[in-house]
Amino acid sequence: MYSVEWVIKNMKAIFMEICPNCGNEISDERLLLGLPCDKCLKNNIEKYLMLRKKLDMSIKYRRILVKELSKNERLINYRS
Ligand SMILES: [Zn+2]
Repeated sequence: MYSVEWVIKNMKAIFMEICPNCGNEISDERLLLGLPCDKCLKNNIEKYLMLRKKLDMSIKYRRILVKELSKNERLINYRS
């Protein structure tokens, strides 16, 4: 039986490696912002930090990300 601490620590490690778009490695700060990894969306995250603060994780915010991925021809699994 695993302790709660073990589960939290290890689950976090798993989530930290999965880009919601391509499934590759991703930083925790991008994941917290609901962003894909830096290979999918190269832009500086500051821009998205502002958007995220304004729109929260709304459909509108996710649609902007889908649009940008699509524009860069990097839209794989990301969904609004
Ligand atoms: Zn990615």
